[in-house]
Amino acid sequence: MAKRIRYEDRNQEPLMPPEQRVKTFREYAFGYSVSLALDEARRCLFCKDADLRCVKACPVGVDVPGFIKKITEGDLLGAYRKIVEADPFPSVCGRVCPQERQCEGSCILYYDTVRERKNKGLPVSIGALEKFVGDFVRVSGINLEEEKTDPTGYRVAVVGAGPAGLACAHQLAKWGHEVHLFEALPRAGGVMAYGIPQARLPREVLDWEIKKLESLGVKFFFGHVVGRTVKLSELLERYHAVFLGVGAGRGGLGIKGDHYMGVYSAIEVLTRVGLNRADLFPESGTPVHLGRRTAIVGGGFTAVDCAITALRLGVETHVVYRRTRETSSARQEEWDHIIQEGAIIHWLTQPLEVVGDQEGKVVGLKCVKMALGEPDESGRPRPVPVEGSEHIIECDSVIFAIGQKANPVAYEDLPGLELTKWGTVKVGEDMRTSVRGLFAGGDVVNGGNTVVRAIAEGKRAAQSIHKFLTEEVAV
Ligand code: FAD
Repeated sequence: MAKRIRYEDRNQEPLMPPEQRVKTFREYAFGYSVSLALDEARRCLFCKDADLRCVKACPVGVDVPGFIKKITEGDLLGAYRKIVEADPFPSVCGRVCPQERQCEGSCILYYDTVRERKNKGLPVSIGALEKFVGDFVRVSGINLEEEKTDPTGYRVAVVGAGPAGLACAHQLAKWGHEVHLFEALPRAGGVMAYGIPQARLPREVLDWEIKKLESLGVKFFFGHVVGRTVKLSELLERYHAVFLGVGAGRGGLGIKGDHYMGVYSAIEVLTRVGLNRADLFPESGTPVHLGRRTAIVGGGFTAVDCAITALRLGVETHVVYRRTRETSSARQEEWDHIIQEGAIIHWLTQPLEVVGDQEGKVVGLKCVKMALGEPDESGRPRPVPVEGSEHIIECDSVIFAIGQKANPVAYEDLPGLELTKWGTVKVGEDMRTSVRGLFAGGDVVNGGNTVVRAIAEGKRAAQSIHKFLTEEVAV
């Protein structure tokens, strides 16, 4: 029997050089070639008895060793079919999931590294392999028809076309239900379309994934702000069940001076560029004025995406975060990428107020240095201000990439809907809300998490809706 190949280091995805990528919104991680993918797939140990930590660590439970095995056998369509048993959108998840905290963070090779056991090495690059498989099917143009059962006669309205709504709609349509998807914006994708920059997730990739829903017969109604153009209570009357997946897209500001000209919420900047192409102004008609230098407040995905965007607009980019890199929720490799591109990161720095001039324009961000204190309720060391360390970061604009909240427009006047103390929609294990026939999932429930968690909750809700329809509702 051939010896299993093990390497110390995994194969890195080739990247566009920083000086080139900072000038373009084109995707900068080029993805594996066939030979790199095969080589990387062979690093997998296909552990059988190690209770498959990678599968358990994936919120949707992708059969990781199963799809990687198919790659090693040269069966890329088989690999794709394995992934989509659990995850309807592999090309998206392969790109945007924080794999180091999920599947890859649980890879047995990684475990061995930290415990200093025999099989030292870096985890298998599961995300890059998933992206490779999805891209292979997309680029090859092979049309893998999705199986669909006969029409059931049940009608379901899905509100919000982010990953939660899309995953829910996809699953329900496969089970033969008629699904109508109501979306406030003129296109589908939610944060994946208007938040995550094209440099990380090209829109043609996203659109290819979304097309699967059209081919399953899901009908999209764009420009429908539920709560304004149509009430949630009306949808509950017109449909047998409703899924609420409206996300948590309301930007948060909230320090002294946030009224000055040049203060933005992250979502505003990202939407102007990602959706309305402010990078192409004046041809695009939508500007975004960040000036010569911008300060971005935050340390999560959103802050990094604002930095990617600002750098590509040619703006000197400062990121101000009150904690450390290790305790931030953004991906470590993405910090590396924006630092390579020239971003200046101010770790352990807390903004105090936006400083404006007499004309009301931003001229700086007053901050204080922080030190790490005792752990807080999240277990992370609480940052405490260092006395006498106040200073001003000079800038022409400030972008707040913190404190996103659910926007209650869709459900604020629905009688009997229970919310949590954080204003998110309260659901049970089965994603049922307190209103009969109304289910919810994604950021509007969890307060803001990940694409794959939203997909997992959308799928779980679809299962409960199916059960509700077939057991409790007569057609
Ligand atoms: P959303 O994606 O927010 O979608 C909700 C949809 O509902 C939107 O299309 C919205 O227009 C629509 N909607 C809202 N109100 C109404 C209404 N009243 N009527 C009709 N439609 C309505 N996660 C990752 O895993 N990886 C990443 O790299 C990553 N990067 C991120 C970058 C940014 C800038 C942000 C903000 C988040 C990021 N996240 C990332 C988190 C992830 O995007 C979210 O957790 C996920 O998109 C939540 O999905 P959702 O379907 O619940 O909501």
